[in-house]
Amino acid sequence: MLQFELTPQQKELQAKVREFAIKEILPAIWYYDEKGEIPVFLLKKAFVAGFMNTDIPKKYGGKEFGLIENVILTEEISAVCPGMATSIFDNSLGLVPIYLCENEKLREKYLPLIVREFKRICFATSEPTMGSDVAGMRCRAEKKGNDYILNGTKYWITNAGVSDYMSVFATIDPAKQHEGICAFLVEKNWEGVSVGQSIPKLGQRCSNTAGINLKNVRVPNENVIAEPGKGFVLAMKTFSRTRPSIGAFAVGAARSAMEYAIDYAKKRRVFGTNISNFEAIQFKIAEMYQKVETSRLLVWKAAWEADNGIDPTISASIAKFYATETAMEVVNDALQILGGYGYTKMFPVEKLLRDIRLFSIYEGTSEVQRLIVSGHVLNNYKPTMPPLEDLPLIRGLDLNEPSAKNVTAWRCRMCGHIHYGEEPPDECPSCFFPKTAFKKIWPVG
Ligand SMILES: Cc1cc2nc3c(=O)[nH]c(=O)nc-3n(C[C@H](O)[C@H](O)[C@H](O)COP(=O)(O)OP(=O)(O)OC[C@H]3O[C@@H](n4cnc5c(N)ncnc54)[C@H](O)[C@@H]3O)c2cc1C
Repeated sequence: MLQFELTPQQKELQAKVREFAIKEILPAIWYYDEKGEIPVFLLKKAFVAGFMNTDIPKKYGGKEFGLIENVILTEEISAVCPGMATSIFDNSLGLVPIYLCENEKLREKYLPLIVREFKRICFATSEPTMGSDVAGMRCRAEKKGNDYILNGTKYWITNAGVSDYMSVFATIDPAKQHEGICAFLVEKNWEGVSVGQSIPKLGQRCSNTAGINLKNVRVPNENVIAEPGKGFVLAMKTFSRTRPSIGAFAVGAARSAMEYAIDYAKKRRVFGTNISNFEAIQFKIAEMYQKVETSRLLVWKAAWEADNGIDPTISASIAKFYATETAMEVVNDALQILGGYGYTKMFPVEKLLRDIRLFSIYEGTSEVQRLIVSGHVLNNYKPTMPPLEDLPLIRGLDLNEPSAKNVTAWRCRMCGHIHYGEEPPDECPSCFFPKTAFKKIWPVG
């Protein structure tokens, strides 16, 4: 059964988080955006309100929300501030490898702690010299007795500066590429772990991004998230579960920009009338709404697949690159509708535009999503239509006529020319390909 309506519980969650975002986050965030600093107190408020770590399984004391609930939640936070959405939901990104891994003892040790206490966990695959090419990482993991020793630098790590724990991906040998990748839960206060300065950014300035340096960091075997050879697949599975949330960030930000634009258009008077009376503005608004709605459908589909045991990889990629790219168009159009005010820091649209630019870069750029989707379509997609050369496109013959059943038709597989007769011609009269280019298309079968 197809169902697009939210359940009463989901609606209640949406209303609660919406109220939280507007009352708690919105008024506080401008100051931190200007300062370029993460408001940890807002993360704490989100934690206390129950909007962080929502996907931790019940077995470990968590809420075990599905991805649908999580995308409902993230849309609302991002509608107010995409940077806070990134910071709050970074814990989910850091935790997914732990849910998916084989190390039950690790889950038993850390998950209840993260449910009870205000702990942050970040996710670290990227490095100064690599982002898209995850298999090309250089951070080394060397087995020493029962432990691993980590050496290297992770870069661009969201919340690195405020995290207690880190899901760190490394390699036993860069030459092994995918087969060398492993992952570990590292505690920030362990010897040899240091975090770099906060990286100044165009947008999402209230989310912390920093590098992590690992110098002879000893990781006990109990903290292995993925053994060598299993880390790459784990990272990819993690992204399949988290990319719908990035799509939801985009939906939220695009939706609020659209709402600001609608409000402005209904009130702004130009040439003696409201600008909402101009067709050019109306069409923009129609397209903005169309993009917000279609993006949300794609995001929910990917989340639904993940919640129902279907591999969401392709839907997650489609949702991410569609929603994040259309959000750029929507927010840009919203800024245009607000005219000069849209360009100022006195209104929220310029911040949304700066913030959302990141969505098509992190967790796999738009180019990477296109690689994933094109790889699927070209190699695994099962077409429903016959191949072009087999199509029974029978022009010039009325199949309703009883005599049609006595006719034989041949189609040139090169140019599509149709020949009627018991035998194909020796040569196609249209493209001059030989007899062998012809295929019998009628009678069918
Ligand atoms: C603010 C911020 C927060 C981040 N948070 C995290 C985090 O928490 N954890 C983490 O691990 N990483 C994080 N990242 C890193 C992010 O995931 C990477 O920046 C991203 O994956 C792109 O990698 P890159 O920057 O190295 O670009 P590159 O991989 O060097 O790519 C450069 C350009 O080339 C394109 N390109 C690359 N390969 C191909 C190809 N095969 N075909 C066509 N085009 C290609 C890319 O799409 C891009 O446009 C964050 C980044 C930012 C900016």
